[in-house]
Amino acid sequence: MRINRALRAGIGAVALALAVASTAACGGGSDKSAVENAKDGKLTIGIKFDQPGLGLRNKDGSYSGFDVEVAEYVAGKLGVQPDQITFKEAPSAQRETLIENGQVDLIVATYSINDKRKEKVDFAGPYFVAGQSLLVKADNTTITGPESLTGGKKLCSVKGSTPAQNVKDKYANDVQLQEYDTYSLCVEALRSGSVDAVTTDDIILAGFAAQSPGQLKVVGKPFTTENYGIGLKKGDQETRDAVNDAIEAMIADGSWADALNQTFGATGYQIPAPPTVNRY
Ligand code: GLU
Repeated sequence: MRINRALRAGIGAVALALAVASTAACGGGSDKSAVENAKDGKLTIGIKFDQPGLGLRNKDGSYSGFDVEVAEYVAGKLGVQPDQITFKEAPSAQRETLIENGQVDLIVATYSINDKRKEKVDFAGPYFVAGQSLLVKADNTTITGPESLTGGKKLCSVKGSTPAQNVKDKYANDVQLQEYDTYSLCVEALRSGSVDAVTTDDIILAGFAAQSPGQLKVVGKPFTTENYGIGLKKGDQETRDAVNDAIEAMIADGSWADALNQTFGATGYQIPAPPTVNRY
């Protein structure tokens, strides 16, 4: 009797361990494609939670920003209502993994299309073109652009982001790069004086600057081209085509411009012309 119970407990433990292992193996994610999940009426979309104007989780639990608008528009075109979207935080360094593990269907998170990422994921879009710039305190007069980051200045960017990589490649000799997990942590470090500047895409920096008027400013001309794509599972051409159709429709029917005006119209950020979707 006692042996039996021990045996049963043992088998139970093994079964539990197997269940945990198999959930971990697929990251708890879905094996279905984004289009298939959308047909079931739901989507999980990765966004930023801390980038004002782009992807922000508000105190009341709602989400706002241009990326959220794009995500909701695209989901709508795939037949999914906003309240059927589960938004999941997608920090820069985790985006490819979240897609590869099936933990998100799509990522709309200031996500630049590049060849290195395309080895792991596919992109629809671009739906926006930004450029790398710098954010400093409003009273800073010494930092005017990337070439003025000399003399051991401390520059903050985010792990797994293209700006951090760019600085490492081009300016690493002159600057002390500090990499955090999110841009909001970089902005905190800038406010407290523990870094001299934050670098990432101009639209992200404009969103932070607008949040605290008169305290922070974006300096220098954009010095890279960042084509924002919607990340999806590699090889899922059906989803890619459907998302590209949705982006084109959003631009064509005026929703794209409306969304940008609503999120960035009051910030002074110069809203660029919409990009052309790349149908490769
Ligand atoms: N667009 C750049 C990137 O995808 C910077 C913004 C970000 O980290 O989200 O890496």
